Amino acid sequence: MQIKRNILLNPGPATTTDTVKMAQVVPDICPREKEFAGLMKGLRSDLLKVVHAPEDQYTAVLFCGSGTINIDICLNSLLPEGKKVLVVNNGAYNTRAVEVCQMYHLPHIDLKSSVYEQPDLALVEKTLQENDDIAMVYCCHHETGTGVLNPIREIGALAHKYGAIFVSDTTSSLGMIPLDVIKDNVDFCMASAQKGLMAMSGLSFIIGREDIIRASKNYPTRSYYTNLYLQYEYFEKTGEMHFTPPVQTIYATIQALKEYFAEGEEAKFARHHRVYEAIHRGIDKLGLETVIDPKIESGLVVSVKYPDDPNWNFEKVHDYCFEHGFTIYPGKISTSNTFRLCALGAIDEPDIEAFFEVFKKALDNFGISYD
Ligand SMILES: *Cc1c(COP(=O)(O)O)cnc(C)c1O
Repeated sequence: MQIKRNILLNPGPATTTDTVKMAQVVPDICPREKEFAGLMKGLRSDLLKVVHAPEDQYTAVLFCGSGTINIDICLNSLLPEGKKVLVVNNGAYNTRAVEVCQMYHLPHIDLKSSVYEQPDLALVEKTLQENDDIAMVYCCHHETGTGVLNPIREIGALAHKYGAIFVSDTTSSLGMIPLDVIKDNVDFCMASAQKGLMAMSGLSFIIGREDIIRASKNYPTRSYYTNLYLQYEYFEKTGEMHFTPPVQTIYATIQALKEYFAEGEEAKFARHHRVYEAIHRGIDKLGLETVIDPKIESGLVVSVKYPDDPNWNFEKVHDYCFEHGFTIYPGKISTSNTFRLCALGAIDEPDIEAFFEVFKKALDNFGISYD
């Protein structure tokens, strides 16, 4: 079977290999069969390996849902009575965590800073010093809205120095930027299968400290479907998800993990970086500008300023590129007009070169000048 290959330059879901797509085509199976529980056991243990999490301290808990479910779960499940969350917030995805805190009426501090910069560590420390009721520090690793990479190792160290746990949203970095939960001081991280692992959407997972999950049994419960302890306990007892899992996505993720380990952590990181550099080269060549200092960029998302031309129309350029097999994505910075080009997925340098040929044609086609 020939499947059309689209190059997704949006920040996930990402371009997948045909072998991952085809892994979903399997005989029908009831997910309550032992065979299926066995597959999930292997999958959970492989997820720990991706972030170098020791099996005797960490566990991977799977959920059916998009990546945001993980943010919801960690915040609603891991805050003890009478304690506060500190959200180190420099962008749209950290703001999503603040919104979750608001929805659940969780006591929290929204430590907001410029979306163009990394957070100020001295300010994080000062906030921890002044609020001894902070039990959880939360920060996104790679702020997908801008492309800024946050210093989670340092933030995690500060959290631990002041007796708090550290939760990091690693949805757009896990499986792409090497992460070591012990060295990086991460108690809980998270992702969904369709991003760094290059599988399909519908499966999300949290990798975290088992002792803390066990302790959370006695924390206030704020949700039924998205309670971390409940799902963990069900996995412990039965090896299964509490409710219906995304069956086909699980098959795809198992195949994607095989391909992940075959490519290798360092080689995959290098490939994404090649793609990122090709994106910057293409942008430079056209005389367009980016908005984030490359020194603090993740190497996975590039925020590009709209060309300074009245003929520029994101929708039209998007549609032209889409018709030619390439997807570009709107920006997420309220203070500047940007679009995003991302280096996720099963793509490489030649795909980016082919993209810029199409993109340049789109600009010419609509009479948009660029240098
Ligand atoms: C993609 C992403 C999410 C999850 O988004 P969904 O649309 O719910 O899958 C969460 N955090 C970050 C940093 C992301 O990039």
